Amino acid sequence: MSSTGEPSIFTRIAAREIPATIVAETDRIIAFNDIAPQAPVHIVITPKTSQYSNVVELAAGDPGLLVELVEVANAVAATVSNGQFRLVFNTGAAVGQTVFHVHAHLLAPQTAAGTLG
Ligand code: 5GP
Repeated sequence: MSSTGEPSIFTRIAAREIPATIVAETDRIIAFNDIAPQAPVHIVITPKTSQYSNVVELAAGDPGLLVELVEVANAVAATVSNGQFRLVFNTGAAVGQTVFHVHAHLLAPQTAAGTLG
């Protein structure tokens, strides 16, 4: 739940209430293509529930879940970008965070079919 008591947009994607191209999923994590990609590979990786609004809260509250998120990022990157990737956690509205349900942006310049070495 968000501070408004409404499920976040990412919780609704995890519940299949809002469509998204889901690329990976575990019991507690979901990964899907960003609706407005900023790179050739741009995947959002997020816990299915939204009790943590940013990565600092997640690290303090459930470090194991943060580790799981990074492991999902690595597994996704192994298939889409030859295991190489940027992982960005926007933390705060002033730096561009718009969804206050902790999530990472997995960014890579090309897909595994490309030339990224
Ligand atoms: P933030 O700016 O909070 O770090 O990142 C939120 C991201 O979620 C943005 O890159 C935005 O494009 C993405 N996003 C927002 N709404 C949706 C949606 O309904 N579906 C998908 N797939 N991505 C979304």
